[in-house]
Amino acid sequence: MKKKLTRDTELRQEGEILGAAEAQSADPFGHIDTFAHVGTFAHVDTWVFDLDNTLYPPDCDLWPRIDQRITQFMIALFGLDGMSARALQKYYYQHYGTTLRGLIEDHDVSAAEFLTYVHDIDRSSLAPDLPLAAAIAALPGRKLILTNGSRDHALLTAEALGLGTSFEEIFDIMDAELIPKPELRTYQRFFDKHGVDPMTAAMFEDIERNLVVPHQRGMKTVLIVPKPGQADHREPFEIPDTLALPHIDFVTSDLGGFLADVIAARSLSA
Ligand SMILES: [Mg+2]
Repeated sequence: MKKKLTRDTELRQEGEILGAAEAQSADPFGHIDTFAHVGTFAHVDTWVFDLDNTLYPPDCDLWPRIDQRITQFMIALFGLDGMSARALQKYYYQHYGTTLRGLIEDHDVSAAEFLTYVHDIDRSSLAPDLPLAAAIAALPGRKLILTNGSRDHALLTAEALGLGTSFEEIFDIMDAELIPKPELRTYQRFFDKHGVDPMTAAMFEDIERNLVVPHQRGMKTVLIVPKPGQADHREPFEIPDTLALPHIDFVTSDLGGFLADVIAARSLSA
């Protein structure tokens, strides 16, 4: 499994964009006409982005900081040692989709208190991503964030990335009534609240299972993966055995570069 993922990741290192099926075709090192593939975004007028490990690179220390704050919250709540708190945290994450949901279901924890605590982190390691900001600005249509985190976290993080004015709206875990992606009702609530037609929308996300419903509903789906050698903060169960999955249309480790190609392909076909 690891070998397969590494080979695909090496392909992506060249900076190109692969259709997921092509990435694992019989000739995985053959030429890929990626430019033609990104032309399949010609009908898209709504661009939906996950936040964590999608809009910022996974090798920055942001997600580990949040992860650590969650552990600290549970140590204080239950009086557990660090290792036990960590194990319970990961159990909740895997079985409920977010640690918060497990805490609410089992212990009636205050969502607001939890979200404020775990997102109270130092974001000084984030630098403005000017190419990404320029690419998002150049996308024709609406741009939205759909996150399992909090709105304040999304606002602060987007600001630190130089993306403070890039998005029309943020749909957060409170908007989702604490039901996280990948549950169908959360996407439906998002579509309804913001008048999004999934048939003319695209979804960018680093967790593969969160692309299943978007693809079922007709969205174009793009999985964001780490570059070779980059830290990967996904849990083992979140890393797919293969990238050639029917609900993944594209795979890239360079979101800004991918969007720039999408824009260039659209301008050529216009
Ligand atoms: Mg994410």
